[in-house]
Amino acid sequence: VRKQRLPDFSTTDVQRRRLMAGVRQARTSAENRVAAILRTLGARHRRNVRSLAGSPDFANKSEAWSIFVNGCFWHHHRRCARATIPKTNTAFWRDKFAANKARDQMKIKALRSLGFRVVVVWECELTHPTRVAARLSQMLEAGRIDVG
Ligand SMILES: [Zn+2]
Repeated sequence: VRKQRLPDFSTTDVQRRRLMAGVRQARTSAENRVAAILRTLGARHRRNVRSLAGSPDFANKSEAWSIFVNGCFWHHHRRCARATIPKTNTAFWRDKFAANKARDQMKIKALRSLGFRVVVVWECELTHPTRVAARLSQMLEAGRIDVG
């Protein structure tokens, strides 16, 4: 039996809901764009797959592929204009970025050792969604050939 929820139109509730939606959207807009690309490619997937090594942002276990969507600043995308180093506490930030990059490499290694294909999509690449789509399509096709 499905419980019916009474609509709540109080101002504070509506405001809170809008605020929460904004926060969520800001955090995952790059991931949402990748999700949209995967949908257009007809690639079935799960998001935030915590049951897999490295908790990839997208994965399909039975097809053995996984995707990380990396923000250029936090994951310090090489030779990317968005991968700036803050002018204050420079040493701290350098260490932080180095640690993030090392962790990213470990995650990729762990997934590859399980036989997964791994693609990293950088935030800045999403300004050219057709290129990202081509790359992901290639990754999906490679799996189909393997199964072949
Ligand atoms: Zn970048």
